[in-house]
Amino acid sequence: MLSPAVFGINNGSVNTAVALLIVFLVVVWFALIYWTYADARRRIEDPVLVGTATAVSLVPFVGTIVYMIVRPPEYLDDMRERELEMQASEARLAELGYHLCPHCDYEVDNDFLRCPSCRGKLKNPCESCGRPLEPEWKVCPYCEKEIGPAPPPPRPARRRRASTEQPAPGPFDEAATFGEARPFGEARPFGEVGPPGS
Ligand SMILES: [Zn+2]
Ligand SMILES: [Zn+2]
Repeated sequence: MLSPAVFGINNGSVNTAVALLIVFLVVVWFALIYWTYADARRRIEDPVLVGTATAVSLVPFVGTIVYMIVRPPEYLDDMRERELEMQASEARLAELGYHLCPHCDYEVDNDFLRCPSCRGKLKNPCESCGRPLEPEWKVCPYCEKEIGPAPPPPRPARRRRASTEQPAPGPFDEAATFGEARPFGEARPFGEVGPPGS
């Protein structure tokens, strides 16, 4: 009599069950709001967007479902970790890939004794085990053979010529356009003097 029936159900125990169900749904709703907020914090950097996602989740259940559809697929931590890994591997590649023949700028491996392109001497082999030795080494790290006074090391590497340089912004573009523009400018006097279409 005192408690109005929920959805018109009069039976007492059913009434209690429905009330419990509603309490349960409300608790889940609040939990979803908190979950959306916490999840958005881990995926979205912009606090305004985090607020927007949380506001969307205020719409019971549907809001959180919509958020789950449109949310960024990756955690910010994973993204930062991936960026760091990429930077590290790029640095490793740059470190590994920068062995050039000091005589002809041909790309050579770190353990080459002679340049395969110009036959220039790159490193001396160990007298005992034949492995390539760095000029500043005093003992062979592979077989422990003492190394006598080394011949003067090859001259420091020249800068790579622009024509063989890897594509890079800056000086390379300038050189490329200059090289192309030159013959065009020379051919110009034989044609019309003024700009075309005048
Ligand atoms: Zn060479
Ligand atoms: Zn050795």
